[in-house]
Amino acid sequence: MVEKANSLLVEFADAIGEEYVLSKDEDKAPYLTDWGKRFKGNALAILRPKNTSEVAALVKVCKRHRVPIVPQGGNTGLCGGATPDASGHAVVICLRRLNQIKPPDLENATITVGAGAVLKHVQEAAFLKNRLFPLSLAAEGSCTIGGNLATNAGGVQVLRYGNMRDLTLGLEVVTANGDIWNGLRGLRKDNTGYSLKDLFIGSEGTLGIITAATLKIFPLPKTKITALVKVNDAASSIALLQQVQKVCSADLTAFELISSRAIELVADRFMLAQQLLQDQADWIVLIELSSMDSEEKIRLDIQNLLMDAMDSKLVLDGIVADSIQQSKTMWGIRETIPEAQLQLGNVIKHDISLPISELSKFIQTTNAKLKKTWPDIDIIVFGHVGDGNLHYNIVGMNLEISALLENRRGEINQLVHDQVYLHNGSFSAEHGIGQAKVTELTERKSSVEMTLMRAIKKSLDPLTVMNPDKIFLRDPD
Ligand SMILES: Cc1cc2nc3c(=O)[nH]c(=O)nc-3n(C[C@H](O)[C@H](O)[C@H](O)COP(=O)(O)OP(=O)(O)OC[C@H]3O[C@@H](n4cnc5c(N)ncnc54)[C@H](O)[C@@H]3O)c2cc1C
Repeated sequence: MVEKANSLLVEFADAIGEEYVLSKDEDKAPYLTDWGKRFKGNALAILRPKNTSEVAALVKVCKRHRVPIVPQGGNTGLCGGATPDASGHAVVICLRRLNQIKPPDLENATITVGAGAVLKHVQEAAFLKNRLFPLSLAAEGSCTIGGNLATNAGGVQVLRYGNMRDLTLGLEVVTANGDIWNGLRGLRKDNTGYSLKDLFIGSEGTLGIITAATLKIFPLPKTKITALVKVNDAASSIALLQQVQKVCSADLTAFELISSRAIELVADRFMLAQQLLQDQADWIVLIELSSMDSEEKIRLDIQNLLMDAMDSKLVLDGIVADSIQQSKTMWGIRETIPEAQLQLGNVIKHDISLPISELSKFIQTTNAKLKKTWPDIDIIVFGHVGDGNLHYNIVGMNLEISALLENRRGEINQLVHDQVYLHNGSFSAEHGIGQAKVTELTERKSSVEMTLMRAIKKSLDPLTVMNPDKIFLRDPD
């Protein structure tokens, strides 16, 4: 056994250099636990290749010896997709050294980057050329383009620019066979057979390893205006969304709903959050508009709209940011919530999407049902409501109750997801399935969908080396 492991390590070292094969416990540790500290695994080694050929060489070794591969980018995923199981048989292939960012092609409006490029660095490279790469999420300082693609990440600007799938024109992939598929085409039209890139996007490392991508970039908006608005209930936020879409000439870029309970979590870090909690509004909406028009025009538009909304009692109060710093603080409040939740101990998270017309009914009914069954819980809600995407999270009213919450996870998930399905929604909007939602997938998807997904997996990864038991459990031998 030990001999076999040692000879594998030698083969890996031959492929990428000894320095980049991490096999000591202390070196492996940071790669073996997920961001939320819910999933812990073990691995024979962490492999850190520097380019696509090295990735292909590693996949060939793994295929020959049937060693399971867990691809990993920034390790910020929220469903345990990048964490190996506890057996210690798998290797983690960390893509972070594939971080090349080519200069943007301004005429074609594209940028080609390695899978290990950090999202923030890609945004910065576009910005230097007065362009926008619009994917934006709270983990952008450490998540990678490969991870964003593998989870089809969404974030706060989907409303205007779409999710990662919409932003991608081409991919380079190392297949489960160890072959390199160069599909780095910057074409907006290409109907030449099946769209292979769309299979790999959102496949969470179960079909192949994404090594590079050609992505869309956009003109940088001249003006950005951010506002925080207090409303009484979720229904008012939906009515406000319609008003903004109808009245504002600028592009609505973000429309985020945050419950006051979520704001409380960050109140000790932001004065503005404390102000928002005065006057007892139950919900806060963060709105961002971006435009090629002048700031004066957009500011006037949003101020007029908010005044009308206050006159008609749709909105209780609102603040329009008067500086970049204030706008950053508004976003800081929103983006600090996921991390602040960690202090509450065990959090039962739900990343759900619903038709926007069902959102308010869902919140009302589900809150009432949960509270009736478990009066000692708190419900923390925030999310990209403009896309119908809520983070609907359950914690105990104190740390002691939260610690016991794990025993109720199954029942709570069942109740929430039953309501999601009654309201025609989905139990995974943007975080994927990973290992966290494997059971839900088989329970909630039709047998036709499961059969098709299993057939795709079998045909692209017949030996089940790519991220086994993620999305769905492997077929018994
Ligand atoms: C604070 C916080 C806020 C977040 N907010 C959002 C949000 O608003 N919207 C959103 O969509 N997500 C959000 N996320 C989760 C989001 O999915 C990740 O942040 C990001 O997209 C994952 O990138 P990563 O490089 O960290 O991937 P990892 O966590 O390393 O991996 C995620 C999955 O992708 C696979 N993978 C990674 N790289 C590759 C590759 N090159 N080829 C094939 N498979 C690969 C892994 O095996 C795993 O299954 C948030 C996470 C955090 C911690």
